[in-house]
Parts: sequence; C-alpha cells; structure tokens
Amino acid sequence: MPTVNAIAATSATDPLVRTTIERRDLGPRDIMIEIRYAGICHSDIHTVRGEWGTVPYPLTVGHEIVGKVTAVGAEVTKHAVGDRVGVGCMVNSCRECANCRAGQEQYCLKGNTGTYAGVDRDGSVTQGGYSTHVVVDEDFALVVPESIPYEAAAPLLCAGITTYSPLAHWQAGPGKKVAVVGMGGLGHMGVKIAAAMGAEVTVLSQTLGKKDDGLAFGAEHYYATSDPATFEVLANTFDLIVNTVSAPIDINAYLGLLRLDGTLVSVGAPPEPLPVQVFSLFNNRRSFAGSSIGGIAETQEMLDFCAERGIAPEVEIIDADAVNEAYERVLKSDVRYRFVIDIDSLR
Ligand code: NAP
Ligand code: ZN
Ligand code: ZN
Repeated sequence: MPTVNAIAATSATDPLVRTTIERRDLGPRDIMIEIRYAGICHSDIHTVRGEWGTVPYPLTVGHEIVGKVTAVGAEVTKHAVGDRVGVGCMVNSCRECANCRAGQEQYCLKGNTGTYAGVDRDGSVTQGGYSTHVVVDEDFALVVPESIPYEAAAPLLCAGITTYSPLAHWQAGPGKKVAVVGMGGLGHMGVKIAAAMGAEVTVLSQTLGKKDDGLAFGAEHYYATSDPATFEVLANTFDLIVNTVSAPIDINAYLGLLRLDGTLVSVGAPPEPLPVQVFSLFNNRRSFAGSSIGGIAETQEMLDFCAERGIAPEVEIIDADAVNEAYERVLKSDVRYRFVIDIDSLR
C-alpha cells in the first residue's frame, strides 16, 4: 500500500500535525490522484474537534480535493492519466437503493461513504484530502473543467455543491428573492451562484464589514443581522433563505423573513438543535428544510455551470503548516473566503 504525507488530527484539542497515512492499492476501478490543493471546510473543524460525535483519531480530514490523475486501474473508463479531477465529500455509496438510483448518492439509504472518517470497502477508516495523494473509485471523481484554476476548483467540491444544490432544488432564478445567511466559505459561493442563476440576492451577515465584497459577488442588498431593524425591514420578503451559519441562530427570527410559501433551508450544521416555533411556520405557510451536499451528477453540473459562468471561489492559499492558524481564523469568521492548502507544501 502506498504511504503518503498528510496532516492529521490526533485529538479534539491538539493541533493538527504532519504524519504519513496509507492509501489502498489501486483496484481495477480506482484512480490515483496526486492532490494539488485541498480546501478547508468548517465541517473539517466540527469533525476534528469532536463536535459531531466520536472521531476515529488519528484522522486526516479534507473533502475539497483537486489534483491530477497519476494512475488508473485496468477497468477505468471515465478518467485517464493526466486528467484534472476533483473529489468532494463522499467516495462511495451502495449504488442500489432508491436514492442512489435517483442520482442522489448523498442521501444513500445505507449511508454514503464519507471522504474521511467513513468506513471504506476494505473496512479501514477513510482519510481525507490534507494529503499528497488519494485513491478513489472512478465514479466518485469529478471532471474539473480546464477554465477553472486548480486552487479555485477545490472549494467547489463542497462549498460550491452544497449551495448549488438547494438553490437549484428550490429554483432560485429570475423573479425570486433569495437571502444567504453567513458569508463565509459556503455563503460567498451561495451569493455568487444564486446571482448567476438570476435571483435577487440579499446577504444577511453579522456586520456590514464585508458589504463591498458581497455586492461585488452579485448581491443586490446587504444587511447586518446584529441590527434588530433588519428583521423588521425584511419581514415577509424572501422566497428562499439559505442558512450557512456554523453556529446556532434564532431560526424563528429568520423564518419571519419568508414570504408566502417561502422556504428556509439550513446547510449550516451546528451540533446544537435549532428550536422552531410552529407559529413561525404557520404564517405565510412557510417551510423549514435541510440539504446535504449534492449528488455526483449534480456536482458535475455545478462544476460545468461555474466554468460556463466564470464563477470561482475567493481563496487564500496557505501552506500545510498554517492549517491550525487558519482554523482559528475560520472560527472567528475571519476568512476571505476559503482557505486552500497548497499540497506541494506537504511533499
Ligand atoms: P465558514 O466559512 O466558517 O462560514 C460560516 C459563516 O457563518 C461565517 O463566515 C459567518 O458569516 C457566519 N457565522 C459564524 N459564526 C456565527 C455566529 N455565531 N452567529 C452568526 N453568524 C455566524 O463555514 P463554512 O465552511 O461555510 O460552513 C458553514 C456551515 O455549513 C458549517 O456548519 C459546515 O459544517 C456546514 N456544511 C454543511 C454542508 C452540508 O452538506 N449541509 C456542507 C458543508 C458545510 P458572517 O461573518 O457573514 O456573519
Ligand atoms: Zn465541507
Ligand atoms: Zn444507496
């Protein structure tokens, strides 16, 4: 089995450290990817800090992976050596259940195999993208269009698809008023994608500190949620609200911003519950929903959409040794707008 360089978490409280991990031998339908860049998602932080439950330490996280194919198994047909590919949040699913058959592998009824902390087909724990190489089944690798630079492509594999999928499902588009709550990694992609879909986009951020950026990303309006007047001015306004906040928020206050038949969809994943007053839903026949990443076909659709529209994440490229510092900045909402690890710094 190939042994490769990586960064791993060893406990919920210790900093991530350099280490080596083993990748499985190339199977007939596997491809080996030399990773070039890996994005830092807030889910990586929730995971390594044990906020979502038990963690199989030592664990290498990272599920926004892009790189180049360096080897292919004998039966591989979708990718060739030298191709630019990406891997997102899952590396397998049962492929047989109703949801897998519907192309919604993220909702596999037997549970999809997470890119990290999942149980691989050989029984080992999957290890993520803060690493020089990964071996994955060809069906779970995406084609990264040539026009998207490698480093900008990485965050699309989670932040991009996680916002694209609900925006597409709830039909963000011309004539629709869409609000994005929280303008971090997911949120800034939500703004860009919703604007490209033709929706009238409003950002709801803690302060007005990033207003110029939000308007440049395509938002028409920008409000501070720290100002109580925001919730009065915007009452009964939106068709769709996408909540990307990593911490608990007063969900009832945000539900009040939905117009008739509007939907608030949470993609943010704080470990704490978000208590909902049913009366917040009765008014305007509102819906409260959740959404998890997107299927493989939809992820490819999102990559192609971003390539066609010239949409790319705003990234701050860091060396592997700066990951712990980057985590602290993400936790302070001090991210503009996605940290991406230059994996050459791990070689
Ligand atoms: P991020 O870059 O840290 O962005 C979160 C943003 O939320 C911050 O930039 C900040 O925006 C706002 N925020 C943070 N703390 C807040 C607080 N206490 N009160 C109000 N607003 C706050 O994180 P991310 O990588 O985009 O991930 C966001 C969440 O989505 C995480 O919980 C992550 O686990 C989850 N996630 C879910 C899926 C899925 O499939 N559903 C996929 C990926 C990630 P402002 O500064 O603009 O206020
Ligand atoms: Zn993620
Ligand atoms: Zn399935």
